[in-house]
Amino acid sequence: MQQDCIFCKIAAKTIPVNAIYEDEQLIAFPDINPVAPVHVLVIPKKHIANILEATSDDAELLGHIMATIPKIAAIAGVAEDGFRTVINTKDNGGQTVYHLHFHILGGRFMTWPPG
Ligand code: AMP
Repeated sequence: MQQDCIFCKIAAKTIPVNAIYEDEQLIAFPDINPVAPVHVLVIPKKHIANILEATSDDAELLGHIMATIPKIAAIAGVAEDGFRTVINTKDNGGQTVYHLHFHILGGRFMTWPPG
C-alpha cells in the first residue's frame, strides 16, 4: 500500500467503495466521473503505478485481471452488447491516477480512434 494513493485507499477500504466485484487480488467499482453509461474501474489491490511498472512477477496477477474482466463485464451488464477495456499510461495516455487500472466502458457504441 502506498500512503498517498487514492486507489490503494479504495482497495484497503479506508475510502468507502461500492464494489461490484472483489476477490483477493482485485477490486472493481464504478468510476466517479463516468464517460459512458457503464464505466467501471478494475484495479489490482497491489500498488503498481502503471503497466510500465509491472514486472514478470506480476504476470499471474495481470493474467488474473484479464481473465476476470469478462465476469466483471457480465456483472456490469455490458458483456452481451460489448464493451471497451482501456489502460491509460502516463501523460500521453491520459493517465491521471498512478495506480494501475483497467477501464471497462460500455452501454453505448464506442467510436474509434479515441480522442
Ligand atoms: P485515468 O485517467 O486513466 O488515470 O483514470 C482515472 C480514473 O479514476 C478517472 O476516470 C477518474 O474519474 C477515476 N477516479 C478518480 N478518483 C476516483 C474515486 N475516488 N472513485 C472512483 N473513480 C475515481
